[in-house]
Amino acid sequence: MFLGHVGVGLALKRAAPACSAGVLVAGALLLDWLLGLFVLAGLEEVHVPSDFARAHFLTFTFPWSHGLLATLGWSALAAALAAALLRGRARAAGALVVAAAVTSHFLCDAVEHVPELPLLGPSSARVGLGLWRWMPLALALEVALAALGLWLYRRATPGGFPWGMAFLLLGVAAVALPGQLLGAEAPPTHLLAATWLLQAPLLGLLAAWLDARRRTHVPPPG
Ligand SMILES: [Zn+2]
Repeated sequence: MFLGHVGVGLALKRAAPACSAGVLVAGALLLDWLLGLFVLAGLEEVHVPSDFARAHFLTFTFPWSHGLLATLGWSALAAALAAALLRGRARAAGALVVAAAVTSHFLCDAVEHVPELPLLGPSSARVGLGLWRWMPLALALEVALAALGLWLYRRATPGGFPWGMAFLLLGVAAVALPGQLLGAEAPPTHLLAATWLLQAPLLGLLAAWLDARRRTHVPPPG
């Protein structure tokens, strides 16, 4: 899941309107950023199933970035960081909602991945409903999350339709969905890891920029 995480990040803006949407989007993508880091460090693994050309999804050994216990730890750390960096009205709500953004990643992935998300350590029980086995349904869920996120984002911020955020979501969809629906060959692991490392900071910065423009935009008189 990629588009869906961005949608959830935007949706959470409604719960903490004073917090930048960029922080929430980056929070929702944090576990994949960690996955990229840990794959490059040799601590976690990406597997290409033999039926990838038909199924179009990878499998993972990722207890440190995507385990439930690890997720709660990363959520607490992200909340502490947000509390230290945010000021004023954004602080308390922002810290809680950043934690929710990070935790939401586990919940969304648990719906789509096959049972491979550990509850505790590497050899603990694993969960995953495996919606990826029905890829069109999985992608429909992601599109729905993105649409919900955009709708809630619009309600949380002043002004008209958030065209900038809509185009950001369309861009993410254009990059992510065709490969997930039709990809015949998995990209090399190091390229995937580098992509995961870039996603959170890049989309976080873009969303923060669009959010700041929207918040400071004063409509012309008349
Ligand atoms: Zn993930």
